[in-house]
Amino acid sequence: SNVPTITLNNGVTMPQLGLGVWQVPDDEATATVTTALESGYRSIDTAAVYGNEAGVGRALAASDLPRDELFVTTKLWNSEQGYDTTLRAFDASLAKLGLDQVDLYLIHWPMPAVDKYADTWRAFEKIYAEGRARAIGVSNFQPTHLNRLIEQGGTVPAVNQIELHPSLQQPVPRAFHADHGIATEAWSPLGQGGELLKAPRLTEIAGRHGKSVAQVVLRWHLQLGNVVIPKSVTPSRIRENIDVFDFELSAEDLAAIAELNTDTRLGDDPENVN
Ligand code: NAD
Repeated sequence: SNVPTITLNNGVTMPQLGLGVWQVPDDEATATVTTALESGYRSIDTAAVYGNEAGVGRALAASDLPRDELFVTTKLWNSEQGYDTTLRAFDASLAKLGLDQVDLYLIHWPMPAVDKYADTWRAFEKIYAEGRARAIGVSNFQPTHLNRLIEQGGTVPAVNQIELHPSLQQPVPRAFHADHGIATEAWSPLGQGGELLKAPRLTEIAGRHGKSVAQVVLRWHLQLGNVVIPKSVTPSRIRENIDVFDFELSAEDLAAIAELNTDTRLGDDPENVN
């Protein structure tokens, strides 16, 4: 695989591009992940709540790739936050995936009003200490939530997976992550395939590079240092989305894309998910 890796704050390397499988039904996940592995993907992003860990696991089991070339992420769902419930939910995810270790385990949402994420994080640290997750991190955490974990004095999250695309560029979280050695992983990196992919400015840049708009957007993320996990179930798009390592956006291209930020969320505001 020609996908570059980034080094997390504990020394573990993570592919900078992987496949996201939100909204992929369990019985389609096996074929989708198999296509991705055959196309050079080595990183898969799933979650307990996606209901497809078993389908993902079947594709991993059927693959000839050695386990240490794969990078598997799953996430703890909100209803399972708390110390003991987290440990049980992690066991259930491992069983569905058919693995004895994941590469990255994430708290899916902070749920600040429920206020269990600090306890949940202690369970994550136990899972990490036992070697059952090679790295632990969070998703949808704002700097205030990250500060709470950091002040707790244990493990600094390796990754924060947040909504991030040219319409929501997240300058404040990205700077916070950079200051604290936390990798930024972009969810909905293509803006869910909506209006963003029709933006005239992006169409112009794509035409000049002989690439698609989706490829330009993924390249923008990669040049910013973000980890990306575009989702597709269409084999031609799965291949297109990893074919982004043979061109480079210029400083002018990057500056033009920076101007597309409108701070517009497609998903939920993390403060309001409880
Ligand atoms: P995305 O930005 O990856 O967009 C996916 C959609 O874009 C596809 O369904 C398709 O309609 C379109 N698309 C894909 N490739 C294309 C191409 N080459 N050309 C044109 N259109 C294309 O959206 P996403 O699925 O929301 O996000 C990616 C992944 O991020 C998810 O699958 C999931 O793994 C993760 N995610 C995490 C959270 C979280 O709370 N942690 C939330 C949402 C998504």
